[in-house]
Formats: sequence, structure tokens, C-alpha cells
Amino acid sequence: MSQKNPLANPFLTPSDMDDYDPNSMPVEKARQFIKQYLSPVQHTETLALRDSLGRVLAANILSPANVPNYDNSAMDGYAFNADDIIADKPTRLKVTMTIFAGKSSDIALKSGECARIMTGGMMPSGADSVIMQERVTVEDGNITFTETAKRGMNVRYAGEDLQQGRTVLAAGHCVRAADLGLIASLGIAEVSVYRKLKVAFFSTGDELAGVGEVLKIGQVYDSNRYTLHGMLNRMGVEIIDLGAIPDDPALLESTLLAAASQAEVVITSGGVSVGEADHMKLLLAKHGQVVFWKIAMKPGRPLAYGKIQGNNDNTAHYFGLPGNPVAVMVTFYQFVREAMLVLMGQANPPPLPTFQVECTKKIKKMTGRTEFQRGILFSDQDGLWKVKPTGSQGSAILSSMSLANCFIVLNESVGNLEAGSLVAVQVLDGIV
Ligand code: AMP
Ligand code: MG
Repeated sequence: MSQKNPLANPFLTPSDMDDYDPNSMPVEKARQFIKQYLSPVQHTETLALRDSLGRVLAANILSPANVPNYDNSAMDGYAFNADDIIADKPTRLKVTMTIFAGKSSDIALKSGECARIMTGGMMPSGADSVIMQERVTVEDGNITFTETAKRGMNVRYAGEDLQQGRTVLAAGHCVRAADLGLIASLGIAEVSVYRKLKVAFFSTGDELAGVGEVLKIGQVYDSNRYTLHGMLNRMGVEIIDLGAIPDDPALLESTLLAAASQAEVVITSGGVSVGEADHMKLLLAKHGQVVFWKIAMKPGRPLAYGKIQGNNDNTAHYFGLPGNPVAVMVTFYQFVREAMLVLMGQANPPPLPTFQVECTKKIKKMTGRTEFQRGILFSDQDGLWKVKPTGSQGSAILSSMSLANCFIVLNESVGNLEAGSLVAVQVLDGIV
């Protein structure tokens, strides 16, 4: 790391990095900052094709052959040579062979001849075009048609889908259902992928009780570990859940070190608020290089990012998320998810698709920060997709995340909005 690297000085204030606003860090700037420290995990493994679903390719998939493998007919019809066509006259050809899909003929067509051919059947040598069976009249073993045929019509050429030697899928691509089929169409049975990312996480707070326990006065159930478990699971990483840790320096230290010794990413929730007398901050300074931000966003203002040294040689990326349950989810989706995709092997993860839709309710919003309100996308009576906020937008109202199917993303420059305004939305669910 260079001398200018802010991670080299854990207590560098945000204002040193942010010439826009001395007190808070714009969302995009924090993202860019994190990005410069990320590179994919080094380990790769070879998996049977089916097992590679959701994993990131570690090597290019090249087409070992042409797909399709040979010129073939796109129709049930007759294969012929376009040289036999005489302009403005009906074409009459003798049917000398029949070719089914999966079969070939080693007899070449001669002038004046044609072959009965089925869809997918291999073109016989001497033929370069196919006429649909519906366009011909068959009589006494001959066909007649008047259509002016174009050379090459109704023929699928070898390599038309994929050319031999071409990169079909590049390293860094995340394997989806269509890709499994595509790779199978090349006859490839095993693929090289990046190893699963190991992610350790724990909650912090004296007030946390575990599910199944009886709540004492002043306690709350630890829900963050459950949302984190769900979000991490969906990303296909290896999860190491280290529990809920009270605000006790010795316990927090041993847990942090255990996490950093065995994982590539460590995530904590709670205890990173700027200005708080937190044990986490001192521990992170002792064992790593971590920056603390007040992000210009709502929810999710406090956020920490850096690197932590384990008891061994292992260094882990660290994300200190806020404690508030909605803030945990928002900061995970807006910062951690993308960073983890890079670590998982996707050098340039595509940004979350963002669409403009009409919002049917008015929205209260302060300029100067990005808000991620929880929204419900719905189809109105005319089939037009619109959005409405879920209701209360407090960062502790976790039910707003359960109700939501999208984030309404309101940029820094956006202020209060009237009902009917266009807003940007990010859809939370996908089909693949
Ligand atoms: P903190 O950032 O530690 O000050 O926490 C902010 C708020 O989030 C407090 O109201 C905490 O009780 C709450 N909180 C922190 N951790 C959790 C958790 N794991 N589950 C539910 N609520 C939490
Ligand atoms: Mg706390």
C-alpha cells in the first residue's frame, strides 16, 4: 500500500478523503474507495458442470467445436442447389434421397436433383438451399416450385451459433441456468470456478438476546445475524456465524481475531457509530487498518471498512455495519454485496438495474444525502408499473424491508417530492 493510502492511518478523518462535505462521505465515493482494495480470491476449483451454478468462472470457456457442428436444414423441406433455378420459370427437381435429423448422406446431389430433408438434417454436398415443403408440389418423385429461391435460404450454417475457438463465457462470469445449458451444448462436463468466499460475521451489543431466550428488560432479539445469514446465503458464500457478542473488549477482541484468522471477509453489526466511545474502534485500530465514515445516506450513516490481521497470516476485509436492522440490510446491498462480488471473482460486477417509475405518494426527503426508502412496486389497473413507499421509514422498522420489493433510491440532490413524481427504483428480487 502506498504512503497516501488512508487505510495506512486508521484514524484519518473522513474530511481528509472527502473534499465535498467535511462531515459525511457520499455513497458513490465510499464505494469507489472500497473498490480499490478488492481483488478476487486466489483459489480455484474444478466442479462438475451442474455444481457450478451460482459460482464465478475462473477461466474462459472456449468453444471446442462449431455449434451447430454442420450445415443443416432449418425446415422440413427439400435441399437443392440454387444454380438449378432459372429466373421466372418454375423449378422442377428430382427427389433422389431422404435425410433425417441426426443422419447424413455421403452421396452428392447432381444438377437437377434435390433431397427430401427434415429440420436439423445435414445438408448433402452439392446443395446450398432448402425450400419449405409447403411451397412445393410433389408428383412422380419430382418437386416443382415457382418461388424465386434465394441461395442459402433455410440453411443453418456450421458455427452460426458459436464458432470453434471463440470465448463463449469469460472468466469472471457468474454461472446461471442458461449458462449451464450453453456449456453443456459445447459438450463440456467440468468447469474451473473460484473457491467460495469465506465470510465470518457477528453481532455486537450488551442488549442482544438470542431467539428462544426470554427477553429481559432493555433487551432486543438479535435479528441482524438472521438477515445477514439470509443475505450471505443468497450470495452463495461459505458462512461462519460467530454469534452475538456483548460489548466486552476481551470477548470482542477474541471474536474479531477468530473471524479474521479464518475468513476472507469479516462483517460486524453495531458499535461503529462515529463519536461513540466504542470498544470496536480501538480494537480495529489495534488489529487492522480501518476507516470510519459517516455516510451521507439514510439509513446507514455509520460504516467502517478496512482490513484486519488475524492471529495467523490471514488478512480479512472488514465491514462494520450499523446496528439498526434496516441499516444493516441497506448497507449490505449498497456496499458489501458489490465488494463481495469482486472478491468472488467478478472483476466488474454489473450495477444493480435502476428504473424510473412514477411514485403514487408524496415523499419527504432532505437534500444532501442519498435515501434508500423501502418501496412496493405494483401494477395499476392499466397494467402500468408504479411504486409507493412502504410507510414508516425508520431505520429500526424491519417490517418495512419485509413489505418492500424494491428500494426507492433518492439521490443527494433530490428534495421533497409530490405524488406523481418519477423516482428511481432498484428491484430486490430476480428470477435468476
Ligand atoms: P449501535 O450501532 O450498536 O449503537 O446499534 C444501533 C441500534 O441497533 C440499537 O438500537 C441496537 O439495539 C440495535 N441493534 C444493534 N445490533 C442489533 C442486532 N444484532 N439485532 C437487532 N438490533 C440491533
Ligand atoms: Mg451497540
